[in-house]
Amino acid sequence: MDELLGISEFARQCGLSVKMLRSYASRGLLAPAAVDASSGYRYYAAGQLHEARVVALLRRAGVPVRDIAELLCAPDPAQLDRWSRHLDLEWTRRKRALEGARAALAFEPESVAQREPTTKGEAMTYQLVAGGATHIGGRATNEDALVTTEHFVGVADGLGGLEMGDLASRLALDTLAEAVRDRPRADNVIAGGRKANEAVWRAGSGREAAIGTTVTALAITEDAGALVLHVGDSRLYRLRTGQLEQLTDDHTVTADLVRTGELLPEDAEGHPHRHVLTRALGVGPSVEIDRASPSLEPGDRLLLCTDGLFQSIDSAALEAALGTGDPQTCADGLVARAAGAGASDNVTAVVVDVL
Ligand code: MG
Repeated sequence: MDELLGISEFARQCGLSVKMLRSYASRGLLAPAAVDASSGYRYYAAGQLHEARVVALLRRAGVPVRDIAELLCAPDPAQLDRWSRHLDLEWTRRKRALEGARAALAFEPESVAQREPTTKGEAMTYQLVAGGATHIGGRATNEDALVTTEHFVGVADGLGGLEMGDLASRLALDTLAEAVRDRPRADNVIAGGRKANEAVWRAGSGREAAIGTTVTALAITEDAGALVLHVGDSRLYRLRTGQLEQLTDDHTVTADLVRTGELLPEDAEGHPHRHVLTRALGVGPSVEIDRASPSLEPGDRLLLCTDGLFQSIDSAALEAALGTGDPQTCADGLVARAAGAGASDNVTAVVVDVL
C-alpha cells in the first residue's frame, strides 16, 4: 500500500492548492485515495503525485479541467501538439490586437499597406505541369491540403486542432479554386483570396477554438500573367538555372524580427517563436494577403510547400533534389525524404514545371 498523504501535504508536494484539489475531485479528477468516514479528511497516495504534477502543469498552460481528465484517461501526445498550436494562434491574435491598438492610437503610422505586385505582370500564356504529394508526418491528422490544376496550384497548412485544421486548409483552397475555375482575371484571384478568408472565418465562428490556415497559391491569369497569393509560413520557391530562390516572405514572429534587423538569421532557426504566425487566413474577418507577380520563364521549376518540408530538408538539399525527375516524381521524392527524415509535422509539396 502506498504511503498516504494528508491533503495539505499532497497539495504542497504537487503544486496545486487544497481548494483546487477539492474542486478537481468533485469533477472526477484526482480523487482522493481514502476519505476518513468520521472526520471527512481526504488522503492521497504518494503514487498519485506524478499525475497531480502533470495536472498542475497542464492547468498552468490553461488547459480546462475536463480536457485534462480526458487526456489522462487516454494519453495522446498529438493532443499536446494541438493545444500548443492553439496557444500559438492565441498569441498571434493578441499580438495583432495590440498592434491594431498601437496604430489606432497613432503611436506610429500603420504599416500594413497592401503590398502591390513587385513587377507588373504581363499577359503571358504559361502552361503549368504540376505534381503534388502530402504526408501526415508525425502528427495524428494531416491538416495540410494541396491543389494542382493547369492554371492554379496551391498548398495550405491548417491550424486549429481538434480535427478542424484540415477543414480550414481544404476550405481555403476549394474556395480559391472555385474563384479561378475558368481562366481568371487578376481581380477574380484577389476576390477569391478574400472569399477564402471569409469562408474559413465563418466556419470557425462559434467554435471554442479559432481555426485558420496558411495559403500559398499561384494562378495564371488572363490579364496579369502569374499571380501569387500568400499568407502564413508556407513557401513558394523558384528554381532557375540550378539556383533556388524563395519568392515569399514567412509571416512568422522570427521572420519579422529578421526583416527588421532585430534577430540574426542564424538565431532564428532555434528560436522558440519560429513557428508562431503573425498572419493566417480565416483567423479574423479580414486579412492582409501578400500579392506578387513573379517573373516566370519556360524552364523554371516552382515548389510550393508547407513548413513540414523545409523544416526537414535544408535549402542546399532542396535545391539539388528539386532539379530531378518529372514534377510528380519529384514531389513524391521530396515528401518521402522529409517523412523519412522524421518530420514531426505534416509535409506537403507541389512541384510545377513552367512550359
Ligand atoms: Mg505545418
